[in-house]
Amino acid sequence: MSQFEDITAQATSLTNHDRKPIHLPGSIQPHGVLLALSTELEILQVSNNTQEYLGKEVKDLLGQPLNCLLDTQHIEAVKQCLEKKIGSAVAFKVSITTLNNQRYFDAIAHHTEEAVILELEPTDSKSELSFLSFYALASEAIAKMQSTSNLIEFLHLAAQEVQKITGFDRVMIYQFDSQGAGSVIAEVKREDLSPYLGLHYPATDIPSPARELYTRSFLRFIPDVTTQPVKLVPAENPTTHQHLDLSYSVLRSFDSCCAEYHQNMGVAALMVLSLIQEQQLWGLISCHHQTPKYIPYEVQKMCELLGQIVSSELAHKISHSEWDYKVKLKSLQSEFLESISQADNFIDALIKPEIRLLDLVSASGAAVCLDNEITLVGITPDIAQVHALIEWADNQSDNLFATDSLPKLYPEATAFKNTASGLLLLRISKVRRYCILWFRPEVIQTVHWAGNPNAAMIEVDGNITLSPRKSFEQWQQTVRLTSLPWIPCELDSAIALKNAIVGIVLSKADELAKINQELERSNRELASFAYAASHDLKEPLRGIYNFSTVLLEDYVQVLDDYGIECLQTVLNLSVRMETLINALLRLSQLGQAQLRKQPTDLNELLDQVIDVFRASRQDCELVDIRIPRPLPIIQCDKVLVNEVFSNLIGNAFKYNDKPDQWVEIGYLDGGVEGQGDRGDEVKIKPHNQFPVFYVRDNGIGIPEHHLETIFRLFKRLHSQEKYGGGAGAGLAILKKIVELHDGQAWVESSVGVGSVFYFTLE
Ligand code: ADP
Repeated sequence: MSQFEDITAQATSLTNHDRKPIHLPGSIQPHGVLLALSTELEILQVSNNTQEYLGKEVKDLLGQPLNCLLDTQHIEAVKQCLEKKIGSAVAFKVSITTLNNQRYFDAIAHHTEEAVILELEPTDSKSELSFLSFYALASEAIAKMQSTSNLIEFLHLAAQEVQKITGFDRVMIYQFDSQGAGSVIAEVKREDLSPYLGLHYPATDIPSPARELYTRSFLRFIPDVTTQPVKLVPAENPTTHQHLDLSYSVLRSFDSCCAEYHQNMGVAALMVLSLIQEQQLWGLISCHHQTPKYIPYEVQKMCELLGQIVSSELAHKISHSEWDYKVKLKSLQSEFLESISQADNFIDALIKPEIRLLDLVSASGAAVCLDNEITLVGITPDIAQVHALIEWADNQSDNLFATDSLPKLYPEATAFKNTASGLLLLRISKVRRYCILWFRPEVIQTVHWAGNPNAAMIEVDGNITLSPRKSFEQWQQTVRLTSLPWIPCELDSAIALKNAIVGIVLSKADELAKINQELERSNRELASFAYAASHDLKEPLRGIYNFSTVLLEDYVQVLDDYGIECLQTVLNLSVRMETLINALLRLSQLGQAQLRKQPTDLNELLDQVIDVFRASRQDCELVDIRIPRPLPIIQCDKVLVNEVFSNLIGNAFKYNDKPDQWVEIGYLDGGVEGQGDRGDEVKIKPHNQFPVFYVRDNGIGIPEHHLETIFRLFKRLHSQEKYGGGAGAGLAILKKIVELHDGQAWVESSVGVGSVFYFTLE
């Protein structure tokens, strides 16, 4: 690229102190003639090629007035440049009669502090390019460029227009970043050439003197990099004894390293236009051609004008493109927030789809941490590294913490610089260690560099100079362990996400609290309603029972057999109804009950339960109740737990049609999965740290699909007649009691083999 011309200049200044600064080369390119004049227009210096172009020896020109070459009209034109500011050129066509013919030139004159510089470029045409065709080309280009608001599209169009006007093989737009490094962001090229789009270049490629020159002079044109420079004679200005300042010269010569570099790249001709933003060099339009290429001065000027138009449009387009990015983030945010606020599981909504969480701040990876549970999204360090990073980040007091060079603050991050040289941490809750981390890789990882960066070491005058490739190495040193920076609108995006999450969590908590309150109230109401209703129902029921009994006892002689049978059924049904009402009453009582927890020796409690149970059975000596090991002493409500065991033992014998009935009561140690007292496999509900009690029988068993339903109120699997009746409330009551103790109850069973009822009491 053209800028390497200037790197070599920097390299030179670093290694070869006797070399001249780039604006004082003391020579020009050979496609024209340069004359340095005094303000009185006396010729002070000329390029050593006047014979070739003007048919006059150098010595015949030095010290002569300009009218030895130009007529009065053109001399007046040259004088006009003195009225302009330094570097501002006047241009006109001249014809000069040499020995045997007349030649036409583009004359370009400007003045510096100490001289008037007149440059003559030979041209074929004596007439200037028609203003109208120039205007038509320019206005078409401008109209096209203005039609787009997207920065990259705009620059691409600019490159297209420059290529159309000039016919260069390749036109690139090169943009500098805040550190001065740059990249090719738009490119138009001949199809067969390999693309440079996306390539990055180190800041040192364009050192400050070169930058400074580009901000002063907006166009640089080298039609043939293979040519040799033509020296100025004399080398120094005879009045000032200084080298001629060629900052604004269109013919200024180029460095041999530049030539070598471009030849290596297969470039023979180049033109560079400066893109200026707020008086700073924002970028360059860089044009390459594979063969020497001359473009007329008017066309060069037109390109320069286009460059200036692009520069002036830049601010507008940049703010537009920043605006576009902000708008994109905003719409992403609102879509995102809406979906997480509506989701049942907002954590899921946060990470699905993954790309949305990343796009929110343009990150390449993220980690969502809720307590100690971490979910990774995209390209991230591994879980252990993220864990350690979060531990470290706990010391950062800010709720939003962003760095583009994490390894410099947290050296352990060097190990995962490829994924997380940049970190953006959003703390949602400190108490609960809720946070989101976004990651960006080291910049080098994202840099596309063609070829071996260290391949070109250039030797100049026996010295190894700083070459473009070497300077890439230096750049690597400076950007190593650094990611692209997080910009304010991305931080805003993260904060908006936090606010939304906090808002959602708070409103969900609010909602939940309200629902809980409501639930508690309606539960209380329901329990008192059930209690009142069942209590009041008992009174008329008692009446039905009593009057039926009276009828059966005292009026049996006036009833026929069918009447007696009906009355008997009324009596039975009222007894059954009382059982049901009693069960309902018990359940509603439990709904309002306060637990009276106390240390309870379950062995003593079971002794009582078994005594009462045996007493209720005629075949009490046949009752086989096994307790393989002593039960623990636990904190529980004695009365209620007594009811639980009574119920389970009762059911164990009731739903058993085997002659050798038995029941086994025991417990499994909390958290121990898989081993019962009998050494068999037992499934324990997860996360249980408390003993799991069980009551096992060798009864009829329960079909798989009823294992859940039997805990419902009034759910019975058999007719009233079979297995001795029952309200179907025992297990519902058991479940309620267990839940009052914050425990769980479940059953495992095998039809025909037996059942095991498990419960915990926390
Ligand atoms: P019930 O008053 O009918 O015994 P429960 O709520 O105690 O009411 O039990 C509900 C149903 O669960 C019973 O009707 C029975 O079908 C079934 N059941 C309860 N315990 C056992 C068991 N140990 N073996 C087999 N089935 C059982």
